[in-house]
Amino acid sequence: MPVANGYCVKCKAPREIRDPEQITMKNGRPATEGRCPVCGTRIFKIGAPEPAAPPERGEAPASPGETGTRL
Ligand SMILES: [Zn+2]
Repeated sequence: MPVANGYCVKCKAPREIRDPEQITMKNGRPATEGRCPVCGTRIFKIGAPEPAAPPERGEAPASPGETGTRL
């Protein structure tokens, strides 16, 4: 299960990011911003919150019987 984890500088420990929000840094890279569930300090982590590939290319999953050519 994809859980956004970041490092809390106040707890000095890795924490799960609460209310993760995907933002874009000035250099165009995705980042995740949220809060520490323990102390509420802002946690910032470089990278998208969910690394799972989002289906954006419109590639429908192969349905049996529709197309006979599958690898
Ligand atoms: Zn904390």
